[in-house]
Amino acid sequence: MTREYCPKCKTIKNLKVSTTKTTTKDKKGKIKEAVINSYHCEECNSFIKSDEDKVSLDNW
Ligand SMILES: [Zn+2]
Repeated sequence: MTREYCPKCKTIKNLKVSTTKTTTKDKKGKIKEAVINSYHCEECNSFIKSDEDKVSLDNW
């Protein structure tokens, strides 16, 4: 469980994580997969932050 400061609640809250997967093609036509984690406050549902993990699928 991720805990971080929520500006709306003005305290440290548990964050809910939702993961979105996207695939994009680069200029050479290689498929890249990106996983975006979005963090929202469990209490008020405010958006806190997002991370992006880029995964290269070069080994396909
Ligand atoms: Zn909050």
